[in-house]
Order: sequence, then structure tokens, then C-alpha cells
Amino acid sequence: MNVKELISQMTLEEKAGFCSGMDFWHTKEIDRMKIPSVMMCDGPHGLRKQNMEAESPDVNRSIRAVCFPSGASTACSFDRLLIYRLGQALGEECQTEHIAVILGPAANIKRSPLCGRNFEYFSEDPYLTGEMAANYIKGVQSRGIGTSLKHFCANNQEERRMTVSANMDERTLREIYLAGFEAAVKQAKPWTVMCSYNRVNGVYTSENRRLLTDILRDEWGFEGLVMSDWGAVNERAKGIAAGLDLEMPSSGGENDTQIIKAVKDGTLSEKDLDLAVERILNMVDRYYSQQQPAACNWEEHHEIAREIESESIVLLKNEDEILPLSRQTKTAFIGKFAESPRYQGGGSSHINSFRVTSVLEAVKGNPNISYAQGYGITDDVIDPNLFDEAVKTAAAAQVAVIFAGLPEYMESEGFDRKHMRMPECQNRLIEAVAEVQPNTVVVLHNGSPVEMPWINRVKGVLELYLGGQAVGAAATDVLFGDKNPCGKLAETMPVKLSDNPSYLFFPGEGNCADYREGIFVGYRYYDKKEMPVQFPFGYGLSYTTFEYSDIELSSDRILDTDTLFVTLKVKNTGKRFGKEIVELYVHDSQNAAIRPLQELKGFEKIALNSGEEKTVGFQLDRRAFAYYDTDGSDWRVKSGTFVILIGKSSREIVLSAPVEVTSEENPHPYFTLNSTFGDLMACERTHLFIANLIQFYAPTGNQEDDGMGMGTVERQQALYRDMPLRAAISFSGGRITREMLQGMLEKINSI
Ligand code: BGC
Repeated sequence: MNVKELISQMTLEEKAGFCSGMDFWHTKEIDRMKIPSVMMCDGPHGLRKQNMEAESPDVNRSIRAVCFPSGASTACSFDRLLIYRLGQALGEECQTEHIAVILGPAANIKRSPLCGRNFEYFSEDPYLTGEMAANYIKGVQSRGIGTSLKHFCANNQEERRMTVSANMDERTLREIYLAGFEAAVKQAKPWTVMCSYNRVNGVYTSENRRLLTDILRDEWGFEGLVMSDWGAVNERAKGIAAGLDLEMPSSGGENDTQIIKAVKDGTLSEKDLDLAVERILNMVDRYYSQQQPAACNWEEHHEIAREIESESIVLLKNEDEILPLSRQTKTAFIGKFAESPRYQGGGSSHINSFRVTSVLEAVKGNPNISYAQGYGITDDVIDPNLFDEAVKTAAAAQVAVIFAGLPEYMESEGFDRKHMRMPECQNRLIEAVAEVQPNTVVVLHNGSPVEMPWINRVKGVLELYLGGQAVGAAATDVLFGDKNPCGKLAETMPVKLSDNPSYLFFPGEGNCADYREGIFVGYRYYDKKEMPVQFPFGYGLSYTTFEYSDIELSSDRILDTDTLFVTLKVKNTGKRFGKEIVELYVHDSQNAAIRPLQELKGFEKIALNSGEEKTVGFQLDRRAFAYYDTDGSDWRVKSGTFVILIGKSSREIVLSAPVEVTSEENPHPYFTLNSTFGDLMACERTHLFIANLIQFYAPTGNQEDDGMGMGTVERQQALYRDMPLRAAISFSGGRITREMLQGMLEKINSI
């Protein structure tokens, strides 16, 4: 396509119309110019392609497809290659189904365990989120299919999601809510980005020029198109000017009229409109010119779904090595989820799965397994018959495995949870079973953390999250030890909801959601507060054991522009093959800026045979040490000592090594009469001026008592530290004049 040429031949009306969808899923075609349309569909963990050939096409009816594990689950794999393969598989399905763009990955941060869409999101941590999203995008796009990185940004709750304003300071926005998107955009170059429904600091993201153009395009170099979330457009002409290219699905022409009117009355430049059209055409062109032969085998993809889930399951508790189970042991499977698992979330990501494997199906033919339903999943009511039967079945076996978690009605896109509890009928059942059966294991199906009042009564807990259509097979792989569990938590599991940092402010008042906890999201908060948690970020057990040793840094002194290489050794000291996720955190030892205790800046997953040892390596660049400096509007490294921490989880740091980082660029702050003596003393370039000034008017001598009870010189200096420069005029009794100070400031600021 000669895109520029095509645009020059389009009428204003055609251009305006081209900037919204033809129907729910297609871009418009323009026959006279032979511009074809393309189809998009959800996403993120499977294809939800509306069956357009059906007799009465229904938006909520999609073709059969493969439901892969949800983002909450796959993030626990901490496995870039695995996520890449997930992306490839999705890309192949898109090729086969003639889908140009899959609407995912969803890279929002888990701010509260209550967010109804947490199951789609990866993590509470932006680094992990960014790595997962980037590899998903690379995988899909390697097949010549586009992705839509969503929901940009701060769509962290479902409550009033289409009108709420996520209000936060700039540093929080940059470090927590944008950083994952930034990494994904820079590393993987998604074809498209989807703006979110909500507002950020009062401005709808669909017309937020700062987000869609200044940051996304100018700062991060994004070259693709931005589309709206479905129905997210507020004022269309403003959106075009801000950088929102495509409105989805469409407004039936009403918003196109707004665009035409705005161009005609001069409030919207036609150049901005042309740019939006150009980006949409580029996407269409990209799809048709990169088409690859379609080759997709659903059976194989079912197996990929199984493998991805089995590599993502997290073993949370394994007292007395109750797991893995032996197939010869008399085992009671308890709970409705054993028969019909909860394996995906509700809403736009809901897949019409071509097959679902439950655990009961996966163990079919094993005479040692008994089953009792135990509870219902349509409401939270104890059915005495089901309850008693389950307790009896558990008592008659040698081990009980309870398949429990959140039923669909408790968690979905469109609403947030009201509490963090599992249904009472399930909690009570677990307690009753544990009472009669000392060997009890709980297997959880949930999109987001739950309170575990029974945690001390059961021996084992396995976290599946929402594990996709092959979840039953994956769960049995791990339960019976065919697979060694190797996932770790991509989020903290707090003991109770009120421990969560957003608790006091979630979901906000009316349309205001104030993110008052700031950068202290997830472990950044729990760690700094030294708070006990149910299970920490990055935690997960294995059937084998690993020992870490020999941490080495390429240097113990670097410039912030250097790359730091970190190596260490990990040995499998147990009896079986296993995979270990090695986590690298950075701790800033200075108190110069308010920072979390530690932040994840690297992870690697390695496979080790029994007795095998491998060296694991990391590379850290400037960003690993930086924080967002709001005054300087940039990422900044403060020179000083940092500590590299290597952990089995965020709460189990096993190796550490200090490194001295010197920042090349120490921005010279602009000083005024209201700058404090302390600020001026701290700056190398102004230090001398200020020392002289203090000498000039301050009392001298090292007297113990200055008559004001201030004591020593050190303590007096502490007093000056927070004094603004202008105070020197009155405290010097007029010996220092305003003119003198201004002259000095001029000199200082011009250095
Ligand atoms: C969701 C998006 C989704 C879109 C299309 C919206 O309601 O927020 O994630 O891609 O619908 O189904």
C-alpha cells in the first residue's frame, strides 16, 4: 500500500469514518480504493472470535478455541520463553482464523486483590509485568499478527471503570503504573496499544495527549496505532488530537461527524486526522503484507496449555512432604471444581473452549481415587448431604485433596470483589475434612488472592490460579509428581484484606480513586512495613531443594552508565530434576529518596538435574538503580551504595553484595532564596559558597551552650540545615543583604 498516496485521495468524510470500526470487530473497508478491513478479537489468553457466519451473529457467541491459562497464572512461571511460546500459539490461531490483532496482553498492575480483572493481569510488580507482556507480544508478532497492549493505563479496578479517575502523583504513575507498559513498548514494539476506559488525574486516557503522545510516542518511541477500549471514547475530536487513532467499535457515525465538524471549524487540524488514518492503514498493510501460511493444531495447543499451566502452578505449602502423591494411595478428591474446574475468568476474555480437562478426567481409571462433590458453585449455601458425604469420603481415604476456590459469581470483569474470602461453604468444608483427615491438601482455583483461615489445619496447598482448559491434567501432573512444581507467586498474598496498602482508599469515592499508597504497592509496602504476609511475592516450593552460592559482581564500583554483571551458582541438592526461579532485587542503602526496601530488577529460571550446578547471570543497567525524580522529570540515580540481593523469594534473600554506583549526571538544582542551607551544602558546586556564608554571620567557637539551649556546633548546623537562604538576612542582623544573596545565587546558578 502506498499509504500517503491513499490518504491524499480520501475525502474528509472517508478519513473521519475510517477512524472507527465497521462493526464490533472489524476496521472499515473502502471499496473504491481497495482498502480491505481487518478483524481483531480478544485476547488475552485465547481467541474469542465472534462467529460472523452464524445465522444470527451474537457478540457473546464465539467460535470454539483453546483457552490457555490466564495472565495471573502464567506470570507465576517467571518464564520468558514459555510466555513467548504462548504468544506464538496464539499467533498461529489468529493466522488460521484470519485475525489481524489479538487484544492483549493485559498489563495493568494488581493494586488491590479485589480488582475483578486481576485474573487477566500479570503482577503487582512492574518489572515482571513488563517482561511477561514483552515476551507475549514478541511471540504473537513473530507470527505476523499484531497485539494490543492494554489497558493503557491505570485500569486497576472495575468499579466505575468507565468514569473513574485514577489520581496519583507523577512518580507513582511512572514507577508503578507505566513502567510495565514502557518496558513492553520499548522491548517488543506492539502493533497497537489500547487505551483504558478510565481517566488519569482527571483526563480520560482516550483524550490524554500526555499519555498517548508525549509519553507513549515521543518518549518511548511507539510507532503503532492506539485504539480505544470498546466504548472508551469521550470526546472524539479531542481524542484524535491527543493521539487516539481508532475508535472501537464505532459510534454509528456520530463521532465521525464530530471529527468532520472539528476539522471544518478549525479546532482539529486535518494533519492530526491524517496521522490517525495513516497509522490505521499501516496496521492493515502490515497484516496483509506479513501474512504467513497458517498452521495450527488444536490438539497440540491443548498440550501447550497443559504444559504452560504445569510450569506455572505454585506449591504454597508441603508439610511432611505430603506431595507428591502416590497413585497407589487411597485418595479422596473433594469439591465441585474437581469435576468442573474454574479455569478462566468472566467477561471479554471468556473463551468457548473446545475441550476442558478436569482432574477427575485426568485420573480416570485409577481405582484408588474416590470423589465427592462437597459444595455447590452457584451460591454460598451449605448442602448438608453434599457436606456429610464429602467428610465421610475424606475420612475413608488416606489422603484428601480438596479442589476449592472462587466460583464465577464472585469474580469477573465488570465488578470488583467485596472481600477476599472464599465462599463460607468451602471454608467450612475444608475445616471439617481436615478434622477427620490429617493428610489434607487444598488445590486453589482463583484469579486473585483469598484469605486462608484453614491454612494451619492442612498439610498442602497448591495454587493453580485460573489455569486454562487443560488445568485438570496440569494439576495432576504436579499432584502426582510427573512434574516438579516450579512457579512462584507474582503477587503477595496478604493475611487479610485490610493489610493491603490500597485498603483504605479502594475503590475510591464516586469517580475519584486516589492512589494514596503511592509507590508502595504489593511487596514494596509489606516489606517496608515489616508486615507478616500469608505468602510473599516470589514465593513457591519445589519437590527438590536448591542451594545458592558464590555471588560475584563484575565490579564493586560502577558508573551509572555502566552495565553491572552479576553471577552466582545454584545447585540442585535434592533427589529429582527441578526448575528454580532466581530473583534479583536491588536495595538502595541511601536515604536520599523515599524508596521501597527492595525492587525486583531481574529473574532467571533454570533447570537442574539432581546434583547439578549452574551459573546464573544477570545484567543490570542504569534503570535498575534509578527512581523517577519528579523535580527533574526524569529517571535519576543518586550516587551511593546499593546492595544486590538474590532471593528464593522476596522474603528469603540468600545472597547479597554491595556496589558503589556513581551517577555521571548529578543535575544541578536551580537555587532560589527559598532553597535551604542544607540543600546548598549538599551540592558539591555550592558547598563552598555556603560554608563561607555561614562563617560570615554564624556564631563561631565550639561552645557547649549557645545560650539558646542549642548546644554544640553540630546541633546548630542542624538548625541551619532547614533554614531558607533568605533567613540569613534577619539572622545576620542585616550584615547580609538581599542584594548580596541574589548576587551569590546568580553566580551559583550560572555554574
Ligand atoms: C475490555 C477489553 C476488551 C474489549 C473487547 C472491553 O470491555 O475492557 O479488554 O478487549 O472489551 O471485547
